[in-house]
Amino acid sequence: MTQSATELPAAAETAERRKPALSPSRASDFKQCPLLYRFRAVDKIPETPSKAQVRGTLVHAVLERLFALPAEERVPARAKELVDPLWAELSAENPEWAALFSGDADDAATAESDWLASAGELLDTYFGLEDPSALEPQACEERVEVELGSGVRLRGYVDRIDVAETGEVRIVDYKTGAAPREIGEIKAMFQMKFYALVLWRLRGAVPDQLKLMYLTDGQSLTYTPDEAELRRFERTLEAIWQAILRAGKSGDFRPSKSKLCRWCDHQARCPEFGGTPPEYPGWPEPDGGDETVLDRAD
Ligand code: SF4
Repeated sequence: MTQSATELPAAAETAERRKPALSPSRASDFKQCPLLYRFRAVDKIPETPSKAQVRGTLVHAVLERLFALPAEERVPARAKELVDPLWAELSAENPEWAALFSGDADDAATAESDWLASAGELLDTYFGLEDPSALEPQACEERVEVELGSGVRLRGYVDRIDVAETGEVRIVDYKTGAAPREIGEIKAMFQMKFYALVLWRLRGAVPDQLKLMYLTDGQSLTYTPDEAELRRFERTLEAIWQAILRAGKSGDFRPSKSKLCRWCDHQARCPEFGGTPPEYPGWPEPDGGDETVLDRAD
């Protein structure tokens, strides 16, 4: 078992960050479609983010900033005040995100302000689900990392970790994506079990609850993991990692068509849609593929 990388000195942290690790998004990609994994983690083909993905990143950033405020300031009006300045920061860091609005035929400024208003609506839905002034999270957007006994390293970012006065640990994930809930739910649970496993292996205790908060429809889903299940899940992740290594060596990443292809950016180069993948660039080192900021806000 290793420490959380966030607890390491800078030089050691840099070395830790370089070690290949499996993230929940890339593990889930491989499970969904090995070819999608290849395009993202091996070829590293840039994808065009959707406005819904970028809005998710913005809303996650607002909620993180909100929890940094004194409890009495965590009210809807204050959260909405954070939207414009945080969008200014994010779009300055990622000019391609701001460019998403330049192609709108009518009025780009109106399209952007309608989109910012829709981020405000997600925040309204959030406040309908819980009162953040009554919570003191232990961590927000926490980077977690652990090496399993098998040597497989897991890495990811947890939206929020709550610890009750009585010691119970809850992992919270906000969902803001455009995909229907029933399609995203299996993926979301996979991600939550991944974080439950990482925290269990880091802290020695199985988290008491996993909570998914759907900010598009105001629903939430809670789940209580148990040790036997996490042990099985650990074996699943180890098997996924071995399958990734085998595919990486042979270059045999097969497409797997499903309803989720609708949200895939790579249809034009996918054989299932009449395309041809680029030549396999090879597998220079066993890199599981990191989470991107957009992955963290789906
Ligand atoms: S379009 Fe579907 S089958 Fe093709 S790479 Fe994307 S997810 Fe895989």
